[in-house]
Amino acid sequence: MAESSHCSPSSSDSEQGSSCLLGLLKPFNEDPRVSSRFAFPCKVGGRPAWLEAKNVPKRSDVLCGTCSQRLEFLLQIYAPLDSEIIGHDEAFHRMLYVFYCVNPACTKEKEYCSVLRSQLSAENPFYSIDFESNLLLGLQKGCGEAEINVCVVCCQAASSFCGKCRRRYYCSRECQVVDWRLGHRDICPSTDNCIYYYFPPFLLDISEEEPESVSHQSPSIEKTFSDDEELEDIEKETTSTTTVTRDKIFERFQLRTSQEPNQVLRYAPRGECLEPLWFREEKRILDESSEVPPCPYCGEPRVFEFQVMPQLLYFLEEKVKQSSCGERTNDVKLRYMKNSIEFGTIVVYTCRKSCSLKKDEHFSFYAKEFVRVQDAFSY
Ligand SMILES: [Zn+2]
Ligand SMILES: [Zn+2]
Ligand SMILES: [Zn+2]
Ligand SMILES: [Zn+2]
Repeated sequence: MAESSHCSPSSSDSEQGSSCLLGLLKPFNEDPRVSSRFAFPCKVGGRPAWLEAKNVPKRSDVLCGTCSQRLEFLLQIYAPLDSEIIGHDEAFHRMLYVFYCVNPACTKEKEYCSVLRSQLSAENPFYSIDFESNLLLGLQKGCGEAEINVCVVCCQAASSFCGKCRRRYYCSRECQVVDWRLGHRDICPSTDNCIYYYFPPFLLDISEEEPESVSHQSPSIEKTFSDDEELEDIEKETTSTTTVTRDKIFERFQLRTSQEPNQVLRYAPRGECLEPLWFREEKRILDESSEVPPCPYCGEPRVFEFQVMPQLLYFLEEKVKQSSCGERTNDVKLRYMKNSIEFGTIVVYTCRKSCSLKKDEHFSFYAKEFVRVQDAFSY
């Protein structure tokens, strides 16, 4: 449980004040003891490690609110919550999944990013209460994505399979077409174990952010933003960047992230009452007028829990440059389309109580949490 790569709320470091946890990328590790669901990973890209092995999202759970196409899996964080904080023990294991629409036409609209919450009590049908035993289980079961058939393309619950070979499972006709085009057509009905992912995989390392301090400011940023007269001179000369340099929110964003320029995620431990680090002024003011809606399942307020940082896109694209769409490594093919997504920051608010998701004794559902995306500047 107390693994360093997990987003568990930090223990009582109250002297530190409000400290945020930062997510940094590290290379993906195929070892199931590191990256499979049995290790409760925080990870980016690749295929989701479903916590609930027999209850994985269906296609209808992960659709874009704008174009109605399937969203792609972007990242997941393991963020269990203490029963003392939330008043129940159903979030002993807790996973948050971020999905994103890669249709470029959608990024000016709403609901093109979705976050699902999944959780389990300490006693559950899938995992031992002992962390080491789970790792052993992961090793025995190999990849063990789920205990039901999942789509070879997107890893969601499968509802059909290839009629010819009867070995390839799909969530939808759409995914079957992807598989067919990217190679199954050439080899069906012979055996092929190839699966796909959209974003290249990484693991997420979670560590505490250094407290904000003047000494951490990089000289170049101090120079750019401390001297107002100089700033105004620059503005007179370069009108196109005026809005950028005058956006105080963006200045703060840059300053704060310059302490750790590689951060791809910021996590606010429960009870620390941290604010999101907004990317820009403009959209924020628009959003401020509309409150974060309470949890639709229990009525409790939602609180800011984490945000995805734009640096993530840089790292993903760098990784993609080293490979290309349809390229196969081991048994996995990349499907990433270049330059298809762009955002300033994705801010996620979750139910304060992380309320129960149990429908009955055997079945629970995925809660849809609230997401605000600030778009990137259009230069
Ligand atoms: Zn869309
Ligand atoms: Zn699919
Ligand atoms: Zn087939
Ligand atoms: Zn709730």
